[in-house]
Amino acid sequence: MVRTPDGIFDVAIVGYGPTGATLAKLLGMQGLAVAVLEREPGLLRLPRAVHFDGEVMRIFETAGIAGALAPRVRPSGGMRYVNAAGEVMIERKPAGEPGPHGWVNNYLFHQPDLELTLRDAVAQHPRVQVFTQREVTAVSQDAQGVVLATDAGPVTARWAVGCDGARSLVRQAIGADHHDLGLHQPWLVVDVVLKRPVELPHPTVQYCHPGRPVTYVNVTGARRRWEIMLMPGDVAEEMTRPEAVWRLLAPWLGPDDATLERGAVYTFHSLLATRWRDRRLLIGGDAAHQTPPFLGQGMCAGIRDAANLAWKLARVAAGRSGEALLDTYQSEREPHARAFIAEAVRLGGILQTTDPAVAAARDRRFRETGREEMVNLSPRLGSGAHAGPPPAGEIFPQPLLADGRRLDAAIGGYRFAVLAPRARHAELAPLCAANAVALVDFATERLVLLRPDRYVAGVADSAAALERLLQAAGGDS
Ligand SMILES: Cc1cc2nc3c(=O)[nH]c(=O)nc-3n(C[C@H](O)[C@H](O)[C@H](O)COP(=O)(O)OP(=O)(O)OC[C@H]3O[C@@H](n4cnc5c(N)ncnc54)[C@H](O)[C@@H]3O)c2cc1C
Repeated sequence: MVRTPDGIFDVAIVGYGPTGATLAKLLGMQGLAVAVLEREPGLLRLPRAVHFDGEVMRIFETAGIAGALAPRVRPSGGMRYVNAAGEVMIERKPAGEPGPHGWVNNYLFHQPDLELTLRDAVAQHPRVQVFTQREVTAVSQDAQGVVLATDAGPVTARWAVGCDGARSLVRQAIGADHHDLGLHQPWLVVDVVLKRPVELPHPTVQYCHPGRPVTYVNVTGARRRWEIMLMPGDVAEEMTRPEAVWRLLAPWLGPDDATLERGAVYTFHSLLATRWRDRRLLIGGDAAHQTPPFLGQGMCAGIRDAANLAWKLARVAAGRSGEALLDTYQSEREPHARAFIAEAVRLGGILQTTDPAVAAARDRRFRETGREEMVNLSPRLGSGAHAGPPPAGEIFPQPLLADGRRLDAAIGGYRFAVLAPRARHAELAPLCAANAVALVDFATERLVLLRPDRYVAGVADSAAALERLLQAAGGDS
């Protein structure tokens, strides 16, 4: 049996995908004893995420990997939804200058590059133990903890988080069902590596062609991605054969131009688990929600889950907050994730139109109303560990401070922070020191309390009101 010296792990994470790795890193930064249990020996080599947004890059900055990651990702060249006549219906502008999070708004990347960077960062924490080729086969819990049965014996922990993907065993153990937002569609996903320069679009293109909807992405380096919708009569096994793939890619390139890296058929879903926690068991990432990839937001939601949950688990594990704080994870995150899935379903309705008459009506509508500009969504959290009207529950931007530093650098890690003008620091310093809260010089009229995930816990005018806010956000009011 695997144990920490003092008995059991604080948290066991089932699954070492991007969600599990980010959660392991953020828990490790807070000193928790963590076991990560992963079925596979190495990284999943299947083609999947290629885009994340500026808010997610900011989470990676908090996790200390932005520096290692930046050279391996590139700012997005924008995205266009075009009809069969080549007219642009919807446009996301190229990434350009840094946005509200202090990073450009959208990045492209190769998922294994990110996962390797995350795994290197997790290895810096000796209290986080990663066990690969360790499949969890059953999950049980009692008042003291969780027992995860694995093929190499049981692992015990006080809490377990299932970051175990779409077919999550932990979700089953929680007994969760799904809310279904209605989109389920098989697509062929193909990654190629160019052998020589080929003229291809710079932005991501969503070809909204009723004959065959296709997504094209200029990923990083020589990598290019096509996602090709399966039409009625297509057989998945035949579609992934190289001859079939090259036939489909013929409008853009051929076997002399590129090496076929991978091809796989996925069914895109739009689902939210009905329950994300049952006592000591929780779920995050694809285990909790699945979205069609038309906004490039599935993995992003999992990274946000990790940033939302890790500080709550650490507080509860340290006995500083009651377990009810863990219920704010779903109440905050579910409506947030739902907003992105609903928007991806709407875009899927535009892209996946195959009836020529419906497509013609769609094209007419866009011609009349003009090109739609796509901006990054930034919904407010659902109710939970924040108090008062907005900006409470909203993500706080990352501006440059008067001293030239970035806000998050001044906060200095994954922890609570109070933003207050210098004149009020002497009054607030004892409260901040007693609660390990960063105190940042910021030109603001009211005092702003930020949570470790950079969402606003609330605003206050006095030290006493700030203390109440801190207690409420920490769940021990
Ligand atoms: C074609 C495609 C394109 C996409 N594009 C984007 C995009 O551009 N942007 C974006 O943000 N998202 C995108 N996504 C979604 C993104 O890939 C997923 O949301 C993300 O990988 C989910 O991460 P995860 O860590 O939650 O789960 P996973 O990556 O699925 O990881 C789960 C891990 O759990 C392990 N596991 C499962 N069961 C067990 C068990 N019983 N015991 C031990 N280990 C177990 C698995 O081996 C796996 O390693 C795309 C997805 C697809 C399919």
